[in-house]
Amino acid sequence: VLVDAGWDSPEALDELSAALAAAGARMEDLVGLLVTHIHPDHYGLASRIREASGCWVAMHGAEAALIRDRYVEIGELLDRIEDWLVDVGAPRADLDDLGNASIGLLRHVRAVRPDRLVEEGDISALLPGRTIEAIHTPGHSPGHLCFYDRAANVLLSGDHVLPRITPNVSFHPQSGPDPLAQFLAALEKLRRYDGAFVLPSHERPFDGLGRRIDELIAHHEARLDEAVALVADGAETIWEVAVGFAWSNPWSSFSGFMRRAALGEAHAHMITLAERGRLRVESGAPLRWRVG
Ligand SMILES: [Zn+2]
Ligand SMILES: [Zn+2]
Repeated sequence: VLVDAGWDSPEALDELSAALAAAGARMEDLVGLLVTHIHPDHYGLASRIREASGCWVAMHGAEAALIRDRYVEIGELLDRIEDWLVDVGAPRADLDDLGNASIGLLRHVRAVRPDRLVEEGDISALLPGRTIEAIHTPGHSPGHLCFYDRAANVLLSGDHVLPRITPNVSFHPQSGPDPLAQFLAALEKLRRYDGAFVLPSHERPFDGLGRRIDELIAHHEARLDEAVALVADGAETIWEVAVGFAWSNPWSSFSGFMRRAALGEAHAHMITLAERGRLRVESGAPLRWRVG
């Protein structure tokens, strides 16, 4: 059973075949593909793998529900993204560039419906001979799953916990109402796996899950304080807050999809602050934010 597929490209399929061969297996030996979430780098190749191996594809129902709007009939989602960009206060001149920023990614996804839906809990029935637990960890994506192999004491953390970078947690038309609160709660839920060896979907395997969870939570709490300080200093729109944030690279170096991800991340923090009573929002286009 494979966890996550790469981008949909002939190169990715070749790399996967070579890696399977190095592990002493062939594509036809795959019986299943567990998808942590439907971002292009995790799900794009799923259709080709299923075709080449005959394996089942499984994911959380909250991810399956997003496939059609995101990858098949995309017109309505593009309209909703454009409305959202007006809400966040993106300048008129940037609307086209930002609105179309994800279209290039569609080339790297061939949509496929899951054969099985996975809920949180024991999924050993899917993998005879192993005790595997699926853990619902929304935030980076609404139906994101981590998988825990009890016998091996290994946690496959997907994009939920990465060793060096913080996963993007964005508000956007498919994110659900308060993705950052969900993300933080799902980090707390993983504390009981501290001590497991972690295999993330990006970068290197690592130990010290509890410490990494502390770092991720501290990062977002500092960002929340930073957003309040920016609004207190006169930033009114999500765009102004995003421009004001201290990023690891300058805002001016972001364009297209990176800039949209930064805006979504700023918006997610503003919503959590409103929920906590530290900010309030005045409706309108764009939305305007005030302290308290
Ligand atoms: Zn992702
Ligand atoms: Zn990823």
